[in-house]
Amino acid sequence: MELACLDLEGVLVPEIWIEFAKKTGIEELKATTRDIPDYDVLMKQRLRILEEHNLGLNEIQEVIATLEPLDGAREFVDWLRERFQVIILSDTFYEFSQPLMRQLGFPTLFCHRLEIGEGGKVTDYTLRQRDPKRQSVLALKTLYYRIIAAGDSYNDTTMLGEADAGILFHAPQNVIDEFPQFPAVHNFQDLKKAFIAASNRELSL
Ligand SMILES: [Mg+2]
Repeated sequence: MELACLDLEGVLVPEIWIEFAKKTGIEELKATTRDIPDYDVLMKQRLRILEEHNLGLNEIQEVIATLEPLDGAREFVDWLRERFQVIILSDTFYEFSQPLMRQLGFPTLFCHRLEIGEGGKVTDYTLRQRDPKRQSVLALKTLYYRIIAAGDSYNDTTMLGEADAGILFHAPQNVIDEFPQFPAVHNFQDLKKAFIAASNRELSL
């Protein structure tokens, strides 16, 4: 039995916080872990900015509903789900990703959760666990699934390493150079071929 694990942002949808910052015009929200490596500090800053701009869950989801998955992502997910059980492993938050997941047909998603208070105010956030992508692959392997995983960035590499086969998709050159053990592809057609190549079954495009 084979299972496909996919990263979300940068693979199927754009970087949600960055696109949200663009849509709202709030420059400060463009900061990522590249600017502020401590994720807790970064998230506290994001929550403070949301509060300053009076953005609660409803406003956030309205803005995010105007975003779209990457070109070809929906078709790719449908293609993959016909051939594998698919689980999306992401460091996003359910409340943030919901409008985009709707456009992808709500495939299974393991990610984190925002805490919402009165009037939709975002009061805090809960990370599901440490190193969640790798832990998920480890757990699924105890069910004797063979795992093929794909992702685009550093936060995916432990997942790719733990999987039986890992694929880099849309990855920047520095990640490709640092992890030459993973095949790197840049469009959905080649990603389909990479999944077929990694599979131990006879699959066709
Ligand atoms: Mg990503």
